[in-house]
Amino acid sequence: MTTEQIKGDFICENCLSYVEDPVVVVFHTRDAGVDKIMPCPYCGEETLVDAEPCPSCHGWMKKGDECCDKCKKWGEGQLGLFVRSLTISVLRHLDSVIEGNSLEEFR
Ligand SMILES: [Zn+2]
Ligand SMILES: [Zn+2]
Repeated sequence: MTTEQIKGDFICENCLSYVEDPVVVVFHTRDAGVDKIMPCPYCGEETLVDAEPCPSCHGWMKKGDECCDKCKKWGEGQLGLFVRSLTISVLRHLDSVIEGNSLEEFR
């Protein structure tokens, strides 16, 4: 068993920790095979994926996502507050206004 370090930014999908340059454990099996595992140093699960900075808060997020989990939760909370500030009849009207459109178009 040997270990090697991979350069790069990763995030754990299980515990959501940011991991820089994770250690990969390499097993050499008797039939000349090589097994590699890259466990999360915080929770031990093999759930590390490539990370990139969140464009919204500059924290870390899974590569390809629009924003990080913290920002997603914050956004959903903001939407909840906004929706609760309007009456049901106005909300029903807004349903027909945004139908099929992206919220981005209303900025
Ligand atoms: Zn983890
Ligand atoms: Zn964020």
